[in-house]
Amino acid sequence: MVKRVYNFNAGPSALPLAVLERAQAELVNFQNTGMSVMELSHRSKEYDVVHTKAKELLRKLMNIPETHDILFLQGGASLQFSMVPMNLLHEGKVANYVLTGVWSEKALKEAKKLGETHIAASSKEANYTHIPALEQIQLSERAAYLHITSNNTIFGTQWHNFPDLPVDLVADMSSDILSREIDVKKFALIYAGAQKNLGPSGVTVVIIRKDLLENIPDHLPTMLNYNTYSSSNSLYNTPPTFAIYMLSLVLEWVDEQGGISIIEKCNKEKADILYRCIDESKGFYSPHGEKGSRSFMNVTFTLPNDELTKKFLAEAKERGFVGLAGHRSVGGCRASIYNAVSLEACEALADFMREFQQRFV
Ligand code: PMP
Repeated sequence: MVKRVYNFNAGPSALPLAVLERAQAELVNFQNTGMSVMELSHRSKEYDVVHTKAKELLRKLMNIPETHDILFLQGGASLQFSMVPMNLLHEGKVANYVLTGVWSEKALKEAKKLGETHIAASSKEANYTHIPALEQIQLSERAAYLHITSNNTIFGTQWHNFPDLPVDLVADMSSDILSREIDVKKFALIYAGAQKNLGPSGVTVVIIRKDLLENIPDHLPTMLNYNTYSSSNSLYNTPPTFAIYMLSLVLEWVDEQGGISIIEKCNKEKADILYRCIDESKGFYSPHGEKGSRSFMNVTFTLPNDELTKKFLAEAKERGFVGLAGHRSVGGCRASIYNAVSLEACEALADFMREFQQRFV
């Protein structure tokens, strides 16, 4: 048995062991080609099967309607902060953003460089402890789109209901895509870097409503235009073939688990285990996210002081719990419990947290 730690990294993060083992088994001789998937031509029929499988499985699992196209890009979610306004913020229109954390701030910053923007709602004043109420969202006139970050990886908050407004909804779903059932029809565009629930870093998934492709300005650089990817089946140039192969294996794994509804149920149980432990700690562990806005993917909390936090993180590491330090911008602790993190890992962490607390109160 390989020794594996309890991996609570925020991204890149845990991948299902079965996926890693399959990749290992297929590494040097992929399906009798006599070479690894990394060495195949991206124009070969063997690679085409992988590429097509990744797209088809994602469509099936997320129930993506034919009105939407699936694109594979590079550059991470961060490049999408620029590509979304480049492609969708047309002359005379205003890009609307809801600020719910660092990543939405970064998305807004890029849009500002490209055109007119408007903050439709924000919880910055409350140190991003919650998602603004849907009624608080105030769209500007001439809104091109409304951008939200469905899960705030750093602060540990998540949208549990999405706005239903007369505007194209764009979502950065980097840290909760594939973790719960969503109605893709509600969204004009969804993007996500793969390195949390989808696979390794290197591929970025974009799901775009096809009619939006018709109005993209021609003057955009080829590689920054969604049409380039849409019209070439994301094969205009060499795609990140190994990352897409890993994505296809992760998607098969999700399918084998019974699909997103089963994964969602398990994710809620996992989050419940940790939030219950935090809520029952009588303030020893203090959650960042307010009830109602808490993330099922990133459970963020602090201990009574920095010294205890350091001790907690050091002891946790010794016991095989890795990746629990909060993001460098906010400190504290964060347990990222993406799809591949087991219920057992969350139970073990909650046990450790209770035991640790008992020694210090
Ligand atoms: N958006 C969110 C919600 C994220 O969590 C991250 C990365 N952690 C990013 C964007 C940036 O992603 P990338 O590193 O793929 O550019």
